[in-house]
Amino acid sequence: MSERARRIIRFLEQRYGPIAHRYRGNPFRVLISCVLSQRTREENTEVASKALFAIAGTPQKISKLPLARLQKLIKASGTYRQKARHIRAISKIILEKYGGKVPRTRAELLTLPGVGWKTSAIVMSYGFGKPIIAVDTHVNRISKRLGIADEKDDVETVRKKLQAFFPRNKWLIINLAMISFGRDICLPRNPRCTICQLLSICPFGKKIVLNRQKTDSKAVAARARIRSDFVT
Ligand code: SF4
Repeated sequence: MSERARRIIRFLEQRYGPIAHRYRGNPFRVLISCVLSQRTREENTEVASKALFAIAGTPQKISKLPLARLQKLIKASGTYRQKARHIRAISKIILEKYGGKVPRTRAELLTLPGVGWKTSAIVMSYGFGKPIIAVDTHVNRISKRLGIADEKDDVETVRKKLQAFFPRNKWLIINLAMISFGRDICLPRNPRCTICQLLSICPFGKKIVLNRQKTDSKAVAARARIRSDFVT
């Protein structure tokens, strides 16, 4: 493992390790939570997942729920009509085709409605403990900022590069720890680079800090000019 990879892992484990491990669950709940998390914020996913699993946490129970009830339970997650359709269809397929168990292969997972590369990767890593790094919007952005992946890379290429960069026994923590990091410090807009412990190894962060310093010194010079014009 490179020194950069070691530093990133050390930082993520120290700061976010406990959070990441709390999220592991059974494959069906991981799968349904993932569908609920699409195009919404974590807080909304949490509300919708809790409401749904309190009433129906298995494919058997979900498939018996009337559609309107299901929609109401998951409303907090947004686009709930489409998500309810997908969740019902997924539950039905799991019951009829896979004997009530979530399929274990990526190819099978990808045939389920509303399941793409990201969701299948999360189910495989957190549901089944298979080593794969799931790449969501935060992981994608941070990997590119840190220079692990290139700006033009698609999600699948980012995943391959991350898996080549970090040792296999650390893959599980990368996704959830990076999500927390992306909400906490490496924000989509205005990342908090000046307090980031990874600044010294982050090309994007260094550029941001340099640009901010330039802008600040221009502002100071402008203020000084205004003051001297006023005095003379
Ligand atoms: S230095 Fe800035 S851009 Fe780089 S990882 Fe830290 S917060 Fe993100």
